[in-house]
Amino acid sequence: MITVYNPADGSVVGEAPQMDAAAVRAAVDRTCAAFPVWSRQLARDRSALLRRWFDLVSADRRAFAEIMVKENGKCLSEALGEIDYGLGFIEWYAEEAKRVYGDTIPSHAAGASVLVTKEPVGPTAAITPWNFPFMMICRKIATALAAGCTMIIKPSEETPLTAYKLLDYARQAGIPEGVFEMVTGDPKEIGEIFISDRRIRKISFTGSTAVGKLLASASGATLTRMTLELGGNAPFIVFDDADFDEAVAGAVAAKLRNSGQVCISPNRFYVQDAIYDRFVAAIAEKVWGIEVGDGMREDFVVGPMINQAGVDKVAALVADACDHGARVLTGGKLDALGGLFYEPTVLADMDERAKAAQTEIFGPVLPVYRFTTEEEVISRANNTDYGLVAYAYTRDLGRAFRLSRELEAGMVILNSGSVGTASVPFGGVKESGYGREGSHYGIEEYVDVKYVLMAGLDRRH
Ligand code: ADP
Repeated sequence: MITVYNPADGSVVGEAPQMDAAAVRAAVDRTCAAFPVWSRQLARDRSALLRRWFDLVSADRRAFAEIMVKENGKCLSEALGEIDYGLGFIEWYAEEAKRVYGDTIPSHAAGASVLVTKEPVGPTAAITPWNFPFMMICRKIATALAAGCTMIIKPSEETPLTAYKLLDYARQAGIPEGVFEMVTGDPKEIGEIFISDRRIRKISFTGSTAVGKLLASASGATLTRMTLELGGNAPFIVFDDADFDEAVAGAVAAKLRNSGQVCISPNRFYVQDAIYDRFVAAIAEKVWGIEVGDGMREDFVVGPMINQAGVDKVAALVADACDHGARVLTGGKLDALGGLFYEPTVLADMDERAKAAQTEIFGPVLPVYRFTTEEEVISRANNTDYGLVAYAYTRDLGRAFRLSRELEAGMVILNSGSVGTASVPFGGVKESGYGREGSHYGIEEYVDVKYVLMAGLDRRH
């Protein structure tokens, strides 16, 4: 078995199966065997099952949230927010299942008809990370099932308890074995089994760019379709014409969610000259007032990091930034609680040569850079291999349009620090991956377009 620990105090929370290759292959077999039946089931019936699952989980959202707090460390209010976010995908795709429309095209030949249909791609697989143990699974499985695909999921071995609870509720809702399978064990071995099996027609992966690249390379052998949600290095740009208080609130909320362990977390704050000093002082004051603590508390706290490697990475990036001249305005060290609790940190006067400018920090650190002109900041913001999300605050309409066009990101968020919901296409460009999740675009990743020509229709026999 795999032991699951609480990052807040190191206590044992539970365990999950350490499945060997034979057990994983058997689960893949079940996923493939279920596909012909599931894909031909009426969309209305698939929709009803998703809806029933949504209702069952909704009725127990607090129990799900508490498990998540214990295995992930995020605070209860955030966990409840994640449950609603994840449930939103199940609800949305229960509705979309009925609307996977095809097309007809005016025929190019006499006595013929052209149909375009959308067929589910086949059995699919997914690999999900620990930072959103609930939502990531909902987002993938709900889309796959709505499209008529079956799916096998490998959740993160750091947070498998939420995942298995979701599976349990899916079974209670009547989602059969094979249609939704789950495995845990050796990530590399499981990834190889998924990708080398020609029957698995698509893999949806959320995680690091390094692992995403490994999977994308391996997919060359089987041409398995991929959706890759990888790392980010989000710029958060504040112009001097911005609504100052909104920008301060947006910056801090966007950054400290999940202790900064989020792929869309702002990683570089660019603040324009005229408001720079006021802005860094304002965020430092706000961040200073935020408490660190065990996520089981009802109020908002910044919880622990997921593991020691996460803490070490943040500490090293902060030390390196200071070596490059950054000033620590608040935080900058392990919290008095010790363990995996790192203090929310504001670093002013960042230098772009610091490692944090090109590394996903994945911790509660706000590094602030100064800029002068729009052209300059766009170029600096785009100076990264990543392209997941870019945030900007401005009240100038023309500038807002220019930013939306010129920032190299799959998502541009203007005058808000909040990105996700089920009805919008989530995803990146460049080394942040490809493919989209959520919205009607998300379902396109799970269907193949089929062109059907029916000729000879004008001959009566
Ligand atoms: P993170 O830094 O968020 O943990 P990872 O990319 O390491 O990012 O992990 C994301 C998911 O990918 C997890 O479920 C993890 O177990 C899985 N994973 C890690 N290494 C591999 C691999 N070599 N092949 C397939 N999956 C992997």
